Amino acid sequence: MRVCRGMVWMVLLGANLLHGPPGCVLATPTSSSKQVHCGAGRTAENNKCCKFYDILDDLQTNLFNGGECDAETREALRLMFHDAISYSTTKNGTFMGGGADGSIVEHAEIETAYAENVGLDDMAFEQQALAKKYSIPYGDILHFTGAVGLSNCPGAPRLRFFAGRNKTSKPAPDGLVPAPFHSVDTILARMKDAGFSPDELVTLLASHSIGTQHTVDPTIDGMPLDSTPAQFDTQFYLEVLLEGVGFPGNGSNRGEALSSSPHQLRIQSDYNLARDSRTSCAWQSYITDQEKMNHDFVKVMHKVSTLGQDMSNLVDCSDVVPAPKSLPRFQKSAALPPGKSIDDIETSCAGHSLPFS
Ligand code: CA
Ligand code: CA
Repeated sequence: MRVCRGMVWMVLLGANLLHGPPGCVLATPTSSSKQVHCGAGRTAENNKCCKFYDILDDLQTNLFNGGECDAETREALRLMFHDAISYSTTKNGTFMGGGADGSIVEHAEIETAYAENVGLDDMAFEQQALAKKYSIPYGDILHFTGAVGLSNCPGAPRLRFFAGRNKTSKPAPDGLVPAPFHSVDTILARMKDAGFSPDELVTLLASHSIGTQHTVDPTIDGMPLDSTPAQFDTQFYLEVLLEGVGFPGNGSNRGEALSSSPHQLRIQSDYNLARDSRTSCAWQSYITDQEKMNHDFVKVMHKVSTLGQDMSNLVDCSDVVPAPKSLPRFQKSAALPPGKSIDDIETSCAGHSLPFS
């Protein structure tokens, strides 16, 4: 694909002329559009974004197995959060991480050795190689890969992507990523310190709609967190509210709560957040409103992917992120799993009823 680089705008005798490298096809600007042709029929509003189309093709072909919503997608999305959340709004002179700076990719050998980052080493080192291959910042490859990966999941929203982070970062310190066994108090405090409200935390947990677990119970590696792990939908929020009846693997583990299904693992912190008065109403609101969930997820993930970054240095390259696939059959609301009734739902938001029977 032809990549346009080094272009400059010039205004001459009242006519707009766009100059670029030989052979690079450039769009003629109009009052309503300033699109740059990047080649292969693709356009972007900023020429600095064109290179990401090459990376997009590489990612979809070689990392995401032809555009699948699978294990690599989950790892890429998880890596976005684990990179960014090591950040503090109350540093008090102590370095608490640089947020969405790609430190977990640049310093993969350090940060993926932390307990909360177990299992992210393959994805981090893959992205480290890609950043070097395309000479782009580690934080850019990280947050672009996550946005592209999510677009492969039916029902997902199209995340925004901004490019232009610093090329170097410092390793984030250990102990700043919430864990499945942490209390609600601990998690809310950590999220608040990083700049996120309880509602925003609940929004971020939509990612568990495509989540699987590996380390809470290693005997059932890959067990999903809801009944539709290949779909970004609202099932997760409903199913975590169902009464727990058993453990799907080898019994109770640290960070594991009773699950409503032998085919899903329930994370202890998800169980608690779904029922805590500070988060339960936001949690329950998503069960019947995927549009709201998706809208909020885009907003909060934008905050995640730019945390700690100087926005004046970043360029909006969201137009390079593919439009996500649709659900085979879109449902605004989650559906009760077979054999379950409204009596199995442990509603915890006073005055908020659910339309199930
Ligand atoms: Ca980081
Ligand atoms: Ca799902």
